[in-house]
Amino acid sequence: CGGFIAILCLWQTLSSQDTKQEKEVTHEFQADVSKLMKILINSLYSNKDIFLRELISNAADALNKVRFESLTDKSIMGEGDEAKMDIRIIPDEEENTVTIIDRGIGMSKDELVTNLGTIAHSGTQRFLQGVDNGTEAVDMIGQFGVGFYSSFLVADKVTVTSKRHGGKQHVWISNNAQSFEVFEDKSGVDLKRGTKIVLHLRDPSYANATKLQDLAIHYSEFVDFPIYIRMERD
Ligand code: ADP
Ligand code: MG
Repeated sequence: CGGFIAILCLWQTLSSQDTKQEKEVTHEFQADVSKLMKILINSLYSNKDIFLRELISNAADALNKVRFESLTDKSIMGEGDEAKMDIRIIPDEEENTVTIIDRGIGMSKDELVTNLGTIAHSGTQRFLQGVDNGTEAVDMIGQFGVGFYSSFLVADKVTVTSKRHGGKQHVWISNNAQSFEVFEDKSGVDLKRGTKIVLHLRDPSYANATKLQDLAIHYSEFVDFPIYIRMERD
């Protein structure tokens, strides 16, 4: 590097350090989460469908939470917001992804790290205890459910983008059972509020709209919000 080029080199070095600081905050999953993911992948391969039940139920919980919070904080719900209280499922066979979007409560950076890095769900803890005591995972799946981590039954990479009302938007990414990254979302695509989960599918059959529709009908019996599935690519 010499002269003008030296300045460029320096600039590049500085800016790459900058991105590093912002981006690569790697977190280890709590040991139980890694253990759970391994059990899921090894023993529930014929019960993969339940991932959709878990993600729909999380989206519905998030919508209920924001509705409840808006009772005491009128600034949360903008005009027309009540009409957007729905769950959207967007399959993409070309990209081999399925995306689930809600305009619910959303998660802050700290909440992403805690809620999607440890085991909060008491059913999941009982599930793990059952496995430790020798019960087959398949025999417990219907009873306990395994929450968000069931995404990894069908996906090898999961990206969660989330934003709380008035907060910053963050991305949570994981493509293995050991670790995940969380960073501020600088993509410029503003969710305004809520959560978008993109599953990069290991099993491409889940990018099929008709299959997702059948599963959503099956799992939406107790969901109070409309579920929309995009049937064709834009
Ligand atoms: P549970 O739903 O039983 O608490 P999960 O593993 O399904 O367990 O989810 C863990 C936590 O992650 C939830 O309690 C919630 O705080 C958070 N979470 C998951 N999905 C969403 C979502 N779509 N919107 C907001 N928070 C979510
Ligand atoms: Mg849940």
